[in-house]
Amino acid sequence: MPELPDLEVVAEILAPRIAGRTVRGVELRRPDLLQTGEASLRALAGAELGPVSRRGKFLRVSFDSGLHLVVDLGRWAWLWHGPGVYPPSTDTDLRLLLADGTEVRLIESKVPRLAAVWVPRDPLAEPPLVGLGPEPLDPGFTPEALKRALAGRRRTLKRLLTDQRVVAGVGDAYADEILFQARLSPFRFAHTLSGEEVERLWRAIGETLRWAIGEIRSRAGGKLMDREIRDFLPVHGKRGAPCPVCGAPVAEVQFDEVRTNYCPACQR
Ligand SMILES: [Zn+2]
Repeated sequence: MPELPDLEVVAEILAPRIAGRTVRGVELRRPDLLQTGEASLRALAGAELGPVSRRGKFLRVSFDSGLHLVVDLGRWAWLWHGPGVYPPSTDTDLRLLLADGTEVRLIESKVPRLAAVWVPRDPLAEPPLVGLGPEPLDPGFTPEALKRALAGRRRTLKRLLTDQRVVAGVGDAYADEILFQARLSPFRFAHTLSGEEVERLWRAIGETLRWAIGEIRSRAGGKLMDREIRDFLPVHGKRGAPCPVCGAPVAEVQFDEVRTNYCPACQR
């Protein structure tokens, strides 16, 4: 599932490719993809594409008409952009046909198909972006802001970091990496953290996410990725591999759909 660093790079690759282009037509090929009325999607035809940005784990494509297309890539959907000469594959959920002959396609080649799109007029005040927590890379996300978000919370750090109302954009993978970097156990209850530990967690959030954006950017090489690039992560998905700090095997705990990897020796 794409998270903040993945989507940040997708937005920066897609933006210059489509900015200023006019939408010639929209083809919805999986009707339940759309979470707002059918008319809202048709209204995008004729509009000019503006900036592409990310909020939490969503991509937002803005149009000069004041409309926005908000995209949740779900678990494995990805965006493709290229010349519209190739017929779309059966796993294409949505096509945005541009006046320059290129198209943006939302492709989901695995089931269940979990991607979703919205066309809100006021995206920050409407679902799915309304109610999202602070952006962890915003200057306003200070150690004090994190301290307030965690104060008195009798929930584990893993659960809190992946709660989109607490911090937007962090999921299972980057919560594991942030906690590894902070040397804090994913099972620690937030209310037991000292001031120094909250500060360490805050620093790890910024450092880990910025580092990951750089790594993904260089590996993507300007191409839209059809899957997340995660090979460089030290702990998430690395069960049994040696911890890069102490050499102990990386542990894994699976609970419901949530997989947590950590180093039992380094993280307390
Ligand atoms: Zn270790």
